[in-house]
Amino acid sequence: MRDVASEMYRFGWMLGTGGNISTLISREPFLLQISSSGVQKGNMKLTDFITVDENGKVISGHMKPSAETLLHIAILKATGSKAVIHTHSVNSTILSEVYGETGKISISGYEMLKALKGNKSHENTEVIPVLGNSQDMPSLYEIVLQRLNRDDGIHGFLLKGHGLYTWGMNVYEAKTHTEGIEFLLDLLYKKILLSGREKI
Ligand SMILES: [Zn+2]
Repeated sequence: MRDVASEMYRFGWMLGTGGNISTLISREPFLLQISSSGVQKGNMKLTDFITVDENGKVISGHMKPSAETLLHIAILKATGSKAVIHTHSVNSTILSEVYGETGKISISGYEMLKALKGNKSHENTEVIPVLGNSQDMPSLYEIVLQRLNRDDGIHGFLLKGHGLYTWGMNVYEAKTHTEGIEFLLDLLYKKILLSGREKI
C-alpha cells in the first residue's frame, strides 16, 4: 500500500495529509488495515498503518484512525471489495461542486472508461454519484452504505467539496480505478473550460 500511496501523493491527489488508503485483512472477523490520521502519504512507514475492526476501533498500531475510517468500512461491506483509495484531487473537488446539485456525473464516449472493471466499451456510461459532505461520520456511513447497496455497477463516488472514493478487489485494482476516474474527471474539467460553459 505504501508504494501506491506514494504514487497518489506524487500525482498531487493526496497532498498535505489528505486522502487515505486501506486493504481488507479478513472479512470474518472484519479486520482492515488503513493509513492512520494525519500522516503524509509521500513517504509512509509501516508504522503509519493501523488495523481496525468493523466499528473502526483500533486493534493494532499506535496511531489514531482517520476520521473517514467508517466510510472505508461502508464501502468494503457494501461492494464486497477488498481495497479502498480516497483522493483529495483538485479535479474531484471542483467537479463535485459543479455537479453537486445534479447529484451525479455521467461520462461516456472515452476509451479510458475501459480502465473500470466490467466496462467493455468506450460507449459505456459511467455514473459517478456526488454525495453531500459531512463531518458526522456515522450518518455519512449510513448514506454511503445505502447508496452502494443499490449495486448498480459504479466504481467510485464523490463527496462534495472533498474528494473521490474508489475501490477494487485489491489495492492495484483500486489504483487502476482511481487513475481511470481521475483521468476522466480531468478530461471533463478541461472540456468544460474549453466550452466556456459552467458545466456540460
Ligand atoms: Zn477526505
